[in-house]
Amino acid sequence: MIEYVSTRNKDIRVRSGKAILDGQASGGGLYVPADLEAIKADWRGIIKLDFRGMAKAIWNIFFDDYGEEAIDRLVEASYKDKFSAQDITPLVKAGDAYVLELWHGPTSAFKDVALSALPNLMSAARGMNGFTDDIMILTATSGDTGSAAIQGFRDVPGTGIIVFYPHGGVSDTQRLQMVTPDSANVTACAIRGNFDDAQTGVKKLFREIPRPVEGVALSSANSINIGRLVPQIVYYFSAYAQLVKSGAITEGDKIDFVVPTGNFGDIMAGWYAFKMGLPVSRLVCASNKNDVLTEFLNTGHYDRKREFYKTTSPSMDILVSSNLERLLWYICGPEHTLSYMKQLEETGEYQITDDELFEMQKVFTGVFASDEDGAAAIKGVFESDGYLMDTHTSIAWACMEKYRSGDSPEGTVSFGTDAAATVVLSTASPYKFSAAVLEALGEELTGSDEENMKKVRGITGAEVPSGLAGIFAKPVIHKDVIDISAMKSYVIEKCTKQG
Ligand SMILES: *Cc1c(COP(=O)(O)O)cnc(C)c1O
Repeated sequence: MIEYVSTRNKDIRVRSGKAILDGQASGGGLYVPADLEAIKADWRGIIKLDFRGMAKAIWNIFFDDYGEEAIDRLVEASYKDKFSAQDITPLVKAGDAYVLELWHGPTSAFKDVALSALPNLMSAARGMNGFTDDIMILTATSGDTGSAAIQGFRDVPGTGIIVFYPHGGVSDTQRLQMVTPDSANVTACAIRGNFDDAQTGVKKLFREIPRPVEGVALSSANSINIGRLVPQIVYYFSAYAQLVKSGAITEGDKIDFVVPTGNFGDIMAGWYAFKMGLPVSRLVCASNKNDVLTEFLNTGHYDRKREFYKTTSPSMDILVSSNLERLLWYICGPEHTLSYMKQLEETGEYQITDDELFEMQKVFTGVFASDEDGAAAIKGVFESDGYLMDTHTSIAWACMEKYRSGDSPEGTVSFGTDAAATVVLSTASPYKFSAAVLEALGEELTGSDEENMKKVRGITGAEVPSGLAGIFAKPVIHKDVIDISAMKSYVIEKCTKQG
């Protein structure tokens, strides 16, 4: 049996359904599987299955209170007709690495994989927990979560969703993906501030509105929800399975994963895959110019008091990486975690011990790359291998090159790898960031995202994903722009309307 415990209060212990409904534990903690022994799995058996089979096997371990029959149904419902790729997350060879394409879902970014699952998991959990209130999902997004969450929750009975995104902080395409869906239970709202402001604001709302408003209870769809984290574990197994199947590696070989990281959700899922037994050599945490995690993984010093940069990989523009708290809890223990999180809140920084850092560095490597490094990777890989990456994937690619060359930041510990293959996680379709991709290729920009997309199509010849091609002709439904201080009254009003 898997129990989830709050990272900030050992007395809060729940089963997965409740953890998924809550999103965050009361008191601000994140839910984590309390016992890593309980998630050890027969990885050799799992990699013999297809994607859905792997999902069922893994969900059955982590979500063991749902029951096998329900899991069967929920996995099928989550991935039916939503993904254009047969095996959901195909692996493609580019140069001397492999790219795991996570963006064949409705919004062309990797968050679709988990956000197709979460609404189904939540709605099933309501019944299991005798929950009669409606659910209002509150989400802060740096761009991609918002649209993926909207696609996941739109028209799901008993749920509503409000997405807050930074005004002027997302691409035109991302914005249109959020402001055009016309489902009655969907709201998208711009806030005057950056992503961290939006995320901090949402976290505060959960503390300030702890009880249902007019029969509508708040919940989260951010990557702090374990209902999002667990479905992401599946594609690490899927990548491994595809490497074995193609003969690129032999079963049992270790591999490296390079993960374009923001909120540390994706790479945390990779760590759980590793703890389940998947043969992983290193998890390379790739950051953009907002290199707070690079510094942390190299020195043990987490310092959010630094300049916030807007980069061409906006979904990785983050100073507070929420899911890191989960890793801290396992590596540093509950007491230190609590103290570090308190220091972060009060002083904006903390320093873990040398032993704790050493433990993390046994599997994690932190590397960052600039916009220029990323652009050079887009151009270089396209010219040499005919493979076109988006701006997030290309940061990971550039980080992989730095990591392989041993060109790590000064004074840092670097551990060798005994990996038989390297997998770069590709988190978005190049079409989703057409303008930056064209610039990287040295092409002239057109006047609009729509034309830029067509121009990219002319270069690659690959079809524009249907979810992207259609948004430019649709009317804008959601036009609100508000101050951070107005978020609370905004949410209460929306809940009152829904309830
Ligand atoms: C969200 C996102 C990331 C970062 O993932 P985390 O789980 O937040 O670390 C990277 N790339 C893209 C395209 C994203 O949307």
